[in-house]
Amino acid sequence: MKEVTPKVRFAPSPTGYLHIGGLRTALYNYLFACNKKGKIILRIEDTDRKRFVEGATEKLIDTLKWAGFEFDEGPHVDGKSGSYLQSERLNIYNDHINKLIESGKAYYCFCTKERLTVLRAEQQKQKLSQAKYDKHCLHLSKNVIEKKLKSGIPKVVRLNVEPDKTIIFDDVIKERVEFESNNVDDQVLIKSDGFPTYHLANVVDDHLMGVTHVIRGEEWLSSTPKHILLYDYFGWEKPVFAHLPLLLNPDKSKLSKRQGDVAVEDYRNKGYLKEALINFVALLGWNTGDDREFFTMDELIQNFNLKRVHKSGAVFNIEKLNWLNAEHLRKKPNKEVLQMLKDELSCSEYKDKNFDDDYLLLIIEAMKPRVTFVKEFISNCPYFYKPPNKYDENVVRKKWKEDTPEHLTKFLENIALLNNPSKDDFENALSQTAEELKIGNGELIHPIRLAVSGMGTGPGVYDLQYIVGKEETINRINRALEVIKVPNTNLSN
Ligand code: GLU
Repeated sequence: MKEVTPKVRFAPSPTGYLHIGGLRTALYNYLFACNKKGKIILRIEDTDRKRFVEGATEKLIDTLKWAGFEFDEGPHVDGKSGSYLQSERLNIYNDHINKLIESGKAYYCFCTKERLTVLRAEQQKQKLSQAKYDKHCLHLSKNVIEKKLKSGIPKVVRLNVEPDKTIIFDDVIKERVEFESNNVDDQVLIKSDGFPTYHLANVVDDHLMGVTHVIRGEEWLSSTPKHILLYDYFGWEKPVFAHLPLLLNPDKSKLSKRQGDVAVEDYRNKGYLKEALINFVALLGWNTGDDREFFTMDELIQNFNLKRVHKSGAVFNIEKLNWLNAEHLRKKPNKEVLQMLKDELSCSEYKDKNFDDDYLLLIIEAMKPRVTFVKEFISNCPYFYKPPNKYDENVVRKKWKEDTPEHLTKFLENIALLNNPSKDDFENALSQTAEELKIGNGELIHPIRLAVSGMGTGPGVYDLQYIVGKEETINRINRALEVIKVPNTNLSN
C-alpha cells in the first residue's frame, strides 16, 4: 500500500488575537508535520462575518511568524492568498451544498427567528437536554420550496441528520467516541448571508486540500459527528482526528481572560521569548514520559508523538513559563542577548546614552544567572547605566557602621594605586585592606556594594567594580561617603 504523506492544517478564525490554546494547536500540528516529514497548511477560517475584525488576519500571520512557524501552504506562502482564505472560496462551498441538497442530505429552511425562538422555549419547557431544530422545512413540497426561493425570503441550508443512528469515530487521543444522531442538531450549513458555517467550509476544505490528520482543541469534539456525517454524505474518506485536551486555570476552570493573559501577543509584549513560550505550550498536554522539560523547537520536533498527548486538561502554570524563559535566556549566546538588550535600551530612559558593546557584554555575563527577562538586564541593575542616586535604607541601617568611612578611605587608597585593575586586582585590594585593618572581608564587601550600586544584592562585588571600572568605583565610594550618614544604631535592629 502506498504511504500517504501526512498533511495537517492550522485553521484559525481571525478574532483579533491568537489565543494561547490556538498557539498550542498550531504547534502540535507543526511538530506532527515536521516529525513525520509531512506538510502543514495555514487556512484562515473567516466566514463568520459578524465576528470580522479589520486587520486580524495580518496580525495572526505576524504572530505565527514571530513564533517561528513555517507553513508549506497558506496566505502569502504561494502567492495565491485567496485560495487559503475561506471568504474567497464561496463558490466552492456553494457547488458542494448544491450536491447535498440534490441528494436530500441537506435542505432549505425558511423558518423565521420568531418560530425558532418559540420552538426553543417549548423544548426547554419539556426539559429536552438540547434544543434541536424540528425538521419542519424538510417536509415542504418542491413547489413550496421553489416559490419561497423565488420570493427571496431569508433562508438557510441545514444538514439532514438521520435519526436513530450511532455516529462512531476513533480519535487518536480520546480513543473511541460515540454520539447518538438523535442528539445532533440539523446544523445550519449555509447562513442567510450566503456564507457557509464553520462546519461545511471546514470539511470541504479539509477534503479538497488533502488534509490527512485533523488536530484541534477538544472544544470542537462535539462538532465532529456533524463533520463525520458530511464526509459520509459526500462519500469522502475521513481524516484521522485528534482532539487536544482543554487548557485549564490553576483552579481547574477553563482557561480564561479573567485569571490572566490568554493572547500570545500579551506574552510577546511582556518580553517572553518565543523559545520559552513554544517550549511551555508544548508541555501543556504532552511530555516525553520522563522529567525532561527544556526543549528547543528542533528537539520538540524530534520527540513529538501524538500518542503521548494527554487525555485530561492541562493546567496553565505561569511560574513554569517564567522558569523556562530564564532557562532559554541563559542558553542564548551573549551576542544574541546583546542585540536584544540594545533594542530594549533604545526604548528606555537611557536611549540617548551610548554604551559600548563590550561594556554591555560584561553586564550580560554578570547578570545572566539573575534575570528572567531581557528588560531585567536594565531594571534589576540600573547602577550599570547611571550612578545610584539613593541607597537602600535597610542595607544602610544594617551594614554601614560607624567605622565604615575609615575602612572605605583605606580601601580607596589601595585601589588608587592600581593600574587598569582586573577583577582579581579588586579582590586582592579588598583582602589586603581588610588585613591591614584587621577586619573581615564582609566589613568592606557590603558597604562597597552599597556605595557602588545603591543596593544590597546583585552580581559579585568584584564583578561590580570591574564592570563600572576603577574611576567610577572611586567616584561612587567618595559620593557615598559624603551622602550616607552613620545611622543611629539605637534605632537599628
Ligand atoms: N476555525 C476553527 C478555530 O477557530 C478551526 C477548528 C478546527 O481546527 O477545525 O479554531
